[in-house]
Amino acid sequence: MGNPQVAESAAVLRMLPSTDDLLMSSIAQKLMPEAGRKRLTSLARRAIEELRAEITSNISERGGREEIYSKESLLGAASKKLEDLWLSHRGSRLRAVINATGVVIHTNLGRAPLSTDAIRAIQNAAGYCTLEYDLATGSRGKRGESVENLLIEMTGAEAALVVNNCAAAAFVVLTVFAKGGAAIVSRGELVEIGGDFRIPDVLAQSGATLKEVGTTNRTKLSDYENAIGENTKVVMRVHPSNYKIVGFTEKPSLADLAELSHRQGVLLYEDAGSGALLDLGKFGLRDEPLVSRSIADGADIVTFSGDKLLGGSQAGIIVGRRNLIEQIRKHPLYRALRVDKLIYAALEATLESYLREDAEESIPVLRMLSLQKEELEIRMRDLVKRLRDSIGKTHTSTIEIIPGESVVGGGSAPAVRPETVLLAIAHPTMSCDELEMKLRSAETPVIARIENGRVLIDLRTVQAGEEDRLIEILVTALS
Ligand SMILES: *Cc1c(COP(=O)(O)O)cnc(C)c1O
Repeated sequence: MGNPQVAESAAVLRMLPSTDDLLMSSIAQKLMPEAGRKRLTSLARRAIEELRAEITSNISERGGREEIYSKESLLGAASKKLEDLWLSHRGSRLRAVINATGVVIHTNLGRAPLSTDAIRAIQNAAGYCTLEYDLATGSRGKRGESVENLLIEMTGAEAALVVNNCAAAAFVVLTVFAKGGAAIVSRGELVEIGGDFRIPDVLAQSGATLKEVGTTNRTKLSDYENAIGENTKVVMRVHPSNYKIVGFTEKPSLADLAELSHRQGVLLYEDAGSGALLDLGKFGLRDEPLVSRSIADGADIVTFSGDKLLGGSQAGIIVGRRNLIEQIRKHPLYRALRVDKLIYAALEATLESYLREDAEESIPVLRMLSLQKEELEIRMRDLVKRLRDSIGKTHTSTIEIIPGESVVGGGSAPAVRPETVLLAIAHPTMSCDELEMKLRSAETPVIARIENGRVLIDLRTVQAGEEDRLIEILVTALS
């Protein structure tokens, strides 16, 4: 009577542990303090359900062949599943990683790593703090005032304001000043910055019409002059951060654009992108507009990011003429885009480094960009020696130091490729994809790149304190 497989399946399923049994297992008890009873209970139900589905399909696929199930083996299998479910949940949390890619402003890895001072400042502001409190009078203070004052001091602008990111900054500027009118932009500057930030779309969203002038490679002052009409509210200059047009190119100077705009009674707004607060020419970054120079040249408003070359937290910084900045501050959109105390804390500490003139040592982005190939080579030789000592003489992976290039990243300076040295690793039996995956799956994940069948490690983006850990992880992955 009946199907023997169905009968067997029913018998096995009766031996599955209950949720309560599973929660009593030693693995569940070990996970309980970290996960909490409620979440572990729902994961335990899921583990048992998955096991039930597997057993049913195993038995029906296997046909008549025997497999021994016992209460104990099923509890063991369910516990293992529960642990895997929890580890996979935990692994999907925000994790600290070692960036061995050599991409300094790595958007996927959180752009600019913060300075020690900025990290300390975040910790300090995390509880109650003087965000909107004036200690001198014991009454309400002005949110963001100290950061704004630092920005004013550093850029020479009359006023400053901070919003969530540079995209938000551009959006609020265009909404407040160009809505219902036209904004003039050169065809060479209608860029997409990545992550869906496209200048024409931002303009459309802000309620302004776009008036394109010039050509992709050449736009003259007269092109702007001819385009300015009754309805024109803003002339917008965009720094095409992530690409570079070379060859037969022309664009008017910002000073000439300012003179023209002011003569015609329209605003000149520059979206500077990366926000260079000091001359980055010595790092080879000659094309980044210096914010103070843009202000001196007559831009009414300049916006830039806090977490690109500036090296601070994610933020959009707006500097410019006082009456304009105050108009933005009063707009309801500003309230929706304003930043949190932790951002002010990190920015304040970052800006203080610039004013103390130790930014090149204390701000990680600048420090990493200033590293010379020779310094990196010394660090790399030392690392390779320690790595070889740890894996032993009999190990047969190919471990070589080769010349290479790092990347600025973050959509900045695509043509600048700082010279570096790379550790190139090839394992005798493991594929490079497999090795890369092993590094990525380590307790502290190491993010590396692959090129020509080898895994590459660039120490430019590995912080000095991370090297011991990196060696340990490499040894484990290679052995
Ligand atoms: C990066 C960039 C943006 C966007 O900045 P986020 O801070 O990422 O929002 C806008 N404009 C320019 C020119 C940029 O380079």
